[in-house]
Amino acid sequence: MNATKVLIVEDEAPIREMIAFHLGRAGYETLEAENCREARAILADERPNLALVDWMLPDMSGLELTRMLKRDPENDDLAIIMLTARTDEFDKVAGLEGGADDYVTKPFSPRELVARIQAVMRRAGGTSEETVQLGNLELDAASHRVRANGNEIRLGPTEYRLLQFLMTHPDRVYSRSQLLDRIWGANVYVEERTVDVHVRRLRKALTVESADRYIQTIRGAGYRFSVQ
Ligand code: CA
Repeated sequence: MNATKVLIVEDEAPIREMIAFHLGRAGYETLEAENCREARAILADERPNLALVDWMLPDMSGLELTRMLKRDPENDDLAIIMLTARTDEFDKVAGLEGGADDYVTKPFSPRELVARIQAVMRRAGGTSEETVQLGNLELDAASHRVRANGNEIRLGPTEYRLLQFLMTHPDRVYSRSQLLDRIWGANVYVEERTVDVHVRRLRKALTVESADRYIQTIRGAGYRFSVQ
């Protein structure tokens, strides 16, 4: 199997090199760019699978670069993770709506970064074999089975995908439009209230084992999975 190619777009050399070092150790092939101009040249020549794009870059913001890349159908297969510092005026909704698949806040541990890259690549590949266990819920992606307290919960395909998405992105709030994009696909026209309908069904199915409490409504923002 070919190694996943990751392009690191970051102007601060020590951070870029640190990331390249750890990704190399984790088995990734890495490419480095210090600005957007270089990044675009490397993207065209090397066709990486994933780009780590820093929010603050010298010639263009990471968000503008992400938007530009995602608009180009040539980059349909490119996954993008944005890197941000807590001090950056980072708007995660803007980042995700700009087309980023995920974002990681600095300072991050190499282990966390590798885990996020693996998760994004699994989603990009569409076949997650992962088992996720949170609270009393267990989702086994290989068999498409969900258990709560060891008892199987029957879910429709959309509720299953919704739960899988939320469980693999815990403690983060997703708006209805983001959930539509991630679960139904960006090119499918579905009304936002469809999300509410499926959330309601999912909660109903989880109620027997009191696991519905994990699916939380954040007023004016959207939904979140949290065991807290
Ligand atoms: Ca930077």
